[in-house]
Amino acid sequence: MTSSDTSSVPAVALNSGGSIPQLGFGVFQIEPEETEQAVAKAFEVGYRHVDTAQMYGNEVEVGTAIKASGLDRSEIFLTTKLNNDSHGFQKAKNALEESLSKLATEYVDLFLIHWPRPQEDKYVETWQAFEELQKEGKVREIGVSNFTPEHLDRLAAETTVVPAVNQIELHPFFAQHGLRREHGDRGIVTEAWSPIAQGGDLLEDQAVAEIAEARGKKPAQVILRWHVQLGNVIFPKSVTPERIEQNFEIFDFELSDEEMSTIDGLDRGERIGPDPDRFG
Ligand code: NDP
Repeated sequence: MTSSDTSSVPAVALNSGGSIPQLGFGVFQIEPEETEQAVAKAFEVGYRHVDTAQMYGNEVEVGTAIKASGLDRSEIFLTTKLNNDSHGFQKAKNALEESLSKLATEYVDLFLIHWPRPQEDKYVETWQAFEELQKEGKVREIGVSNFTPEHLDRLAAETTVVPAVNQIELHPFFAQHGLRREHGDRGIVTEAWSPIAQGGDLLEDQAVAEIAEARGKKPAQVILRWHVQLGNVIFPKSVTPERIEQNFEIFDFELSDEEMSTIDGLDRGERIGPDPDRFG
């Protein structure tokens, strides 16, 4: 048991007037059998924000971990995402009901369109269902994921509510400075998925290692801190208890402007994940 202080995680303001904890726990690629234990560990460490999705196949286990934690539901910020096969007004509404049942909760804090699927051309209609779900109180905040400026433009032209967040691939190798600026202009918070680039080469990078050494921190902590200082919302995934702890211990140091620039310099403009215009 660690004694991390949950109040150390900053809250990021959303355009609705609400807020979101800047650090959460991601559960993509956590097997259902491992999910309850991993989420329980995250709660024990102090995380109060969980990022799941219908696609991840572990909503039931996330719900079980929430119930077992003994925490009040209001203390937890819970995100889920609409599956790619559930675009369309009624299908999206039905899919949310299914998530609520699996997660054993009355509402989710944030519901996202997981991928825009422009080839199917239903994301505007899907967004209208999200607006209605928000009015009904079944979702507190609504947002999108993997949307490009073109997709955001269509929502702006054809619907009413500005997405609270856009959750996009973002890490030092794919820093997305342009899209982050677009989000800023539109009042949309940037959520960064795969924040440590899934733990590969980035954590072996020499420049990152040098900063980590100088700060007495791990490379992953340096990268997560870079996100925090940029203002990104992050939810690193791990099934390893020590890493779940490490990834939470990023609020007790600060990177200098020079260190931030060094990490900015790693941008290769290359995705590790799929292209939003084609995926799904
Ligand atoms: P991350 O960048 O969070 O990396 C996770 C990997 O890094 C795992 O292999 C983990 O290993 C390893 N790792 C975690 N912490 C450390 C550490 N401190 N030191 C070394 N290695 C570490 O990748 P994800 O793709 O999981 O992204 C995070 C979250 O973003 C997802 O869980 C999901 O919630 C969201 N996401 C959303 C997407 C979308 O389309 N909207 C797409 C992809 C992700 P191990 O578990 O073995 O410890």
